[in-house]
Amino acid sequence: MKNIGLSIEYSEGKSTILNIPDTKIYTAGEILCDLMAGNSLYILLRKVRVYPFCFPDGDDPITPDNVDFGEQFVVRGLLGDFDEDPVAAQLSASLFYRTIERHRSLIGRSQKELDDYISERNAEIAADVRWDYIGEGLQLRNMHGFLMTCYAEYLVDVIDSINFFESLAAVMSGTETEFDKEQVKWLNELLSKQESIKGVETTIRYDAKKDSYGLVYNFNSLLALVVFEYIQMKNNGVRLMKCQNPDCGRYFIAKRKTAMYCSYPAPQDEKRSCKKVYPQITSQRRRNGDAARKAYRNTQSKLIHRRTANPDIEKYRQNVDDLQKKYKEKKEAVDNGTMSLKEFKDWLNSY
Ligand SMILES: [Zn+2]
Repeated sequence: MKNIGLSIEYSEGKSTILNIPDTKIYTAGEILCDLMAGNSLYILLRKVRVYPFCFPDGDDPITPDNVDFGEQFVVRGLLGDFDEDPVAAQLSASLFYRTIERHRSLIGRSQKELDDYISERNAEIAADVRWDYIGEGLQLRNMHGFLMTCYAEYLVDVIDSINFFESLAAVMSGTETEFDKEQVKWLNELLSKQESIKGVETTIRYDAKKDSYGLVYNFNSLLALVVFEYIQMKNNGVRLMKCQNPDCGRYFIAKRKTAMYCSYPAPQDEKRSCKKVYPQITSQRRRNGDAARKAYRNTQSKLIHRRTANPDIEKYRQNVDDLQKKYKEKKEAVDNGTMSLKEFKDWLNSY
């Protein structure tokens, strides 16, 4: 089993995935944004677990033959499944394949060596990955333990890569923290030394139809894909933005400078995009805010008149003070959508 990575051809700011059905032409960086924005992350992080978990010969010892069989079982399963997202399927299969290959060195070690190895790794993995992904602490006693260890290490890689993407994207979109800047600095230092990036191989493809040659990158590391797509975005002047819908915040490739919202399904309404949904939400909130202000003014003047007409009634004086004191907070709740206009009016009517 070889060359199962995600094969991407980059050419003139566009990229094409060669080894999935019905591929489209992507803008540089778009493959990565799509992966990080959607259901793909669920597949990469969670759904993958099914195969190592359900390996039928889990009680068997960790031998070269059994590892071969485990690898085939997991990788074939991942490649054959996930019709809805072939990119995530191809990537998860190749990342898992690479993780298993990295752990072949465990074969043939004594039980004591395996126990020592895993007790050390358990703490480090727990720091990176939530145990509920995996079940409980890892044990390297049989093939089930071997495959679950590989899955845990796979998760560490995937989560590190997602975090790294978040930092690079934050810097590109101008929403970075000091930590994000450090991450970019670290990458630039690494690349300036021409360090090789692990998990990516280059091949050359001849296209007979066009009589042309193209460079194809074969990825079996998410970190390598993150780095390559970042470089493509930088080199092609792609505008990466963070969606301004506060419930979303995903990164997207903006065609226009003024773009504020992404085209991914909106958290508020999965059937429509943030681009469609959020401007409607904000204009509705603005209308609610205007109506709330008007209703407040009416109530305020009504209460002030009542106070003036009844100077002896202490409660009427307190009502005016209380209303004015609480208004700011209530109005803010209407503006940010946590309080409906009806709730606001009910509050006014309680005086
Ligand atoms: Zn969005």
